[in-house]
Amino acid sequence: MTYSVKLACLKCGQANRVPAEKLASSPKCGTCGGALISDKVAELNPTSLAKAAKLDDMPLLVDFWAPWCGPCRQMALDFAKAAIALKGRARFAKVNTQDFPIVSQKNNIRGIPALILYQGGKEIARLAGARPARDIVGFVQKHAKKPA
Ligand SMILES: [Zn+2]
Repeated sequence: MTYSVKLACLKCGQANRVPAEKLASSPKCGTCGGALISDKVAELNPTSLAKAAKLDDMPLLVDFWAPWCGPCRQMALDFAKAAIALKGRARFAKVNTQDFPIVSQKNNIRGIPALILYQGGKEIARLAGARPARDIVGFVQKHAKKPA
């Protein structure tokens, strides 16, 4: 039995369907050629965030941050480390809530940094405040489900 995993391209928002056995071999977006699996933190806008949050079968952890927020800037390195640790098991992205205040309203975010974990079309967990990398990894491992 093979199954495929739905992933939105975090660059262009295009929906992609990736056979599970291809996940480990650097699948690329059919539209823009961007890497679908990466150990880098992707920058999202409200459109790409909405698409990925609705579509992704793989856990997607989004950091809601802003340049004026000191704890947010401090956590960026830990967030990047966690992204490397979980490459291929979860995707990591961030949204600048100063540039896009609409995403804070839509997601009911009252303080930043805030981390929201999405999977299977919905929010499955959130974590408030700056955290070290090991806590971020643990949070994803605790809440994420394996794709069907
Ligand atoms: Zn793309």
